Amino acid sequence: MGVPTGEVIARPMMSRACGCLREFQHYAVDRYRAQRLAKFQKTRCEVCVAKLNDEQRQAAANVPKKGEAFKLLPEGSQFTLTRKADASWTGTLAANGQTVETAGDGPHGLTLALARAWLSANGITAPAEEGEKPAVSEAVSKHPAPKPPPPAAKPSLSTFQKPKPG
Ligand SMILES: [Zn+2]
Repeated sequence: MGVPTGEVIARPMMSRACGCLREFQHYAVDRYRAQRLAKFQKTRCEVCVAKLNDEQRQAAANVPKKGEAFKLLPEGSQFTLTRKADASWTGTLAANGQTVETAGDGPHGLTLALARAWLSANGITAPAEEGEKPAVSEAVSKHPAPKPPPPAAKPSLSTFQKPKPG
């Protein structure tokens, strides 16, 4: 299902999955307008997609790996895991006088989720990878997001050509 190449006869503003209003193009000849519109409304706009990707990349970079998460916990950390009637589990992690609580399918994932929750609640992130140690640790998280393209960027045949950064 490609983008039609004919004349654009209307450009209504439609809201996308992220809530942003974006121009949706009606082509004079378009057998797949309904499908294109459905997809358009089910997906995020390009700005939010870029933002989301960036956030996920940063979050992934900062979440301690399985082995690291437990090592980063302070001395005396205590897990409490409880099986519920529906076979799900809840757990708490108490360390340094602070307790976090979460639920999960099983004790394995739960302890890791608790460790990560506790670490993130205390602002502890994974140590930087070797070779890219920032002089100031804040430099990692305060990395500015790339400037998104203007919302009304020329929509036409180049809809699927991403603007080159820079
Ligand atoms: Zn958006």
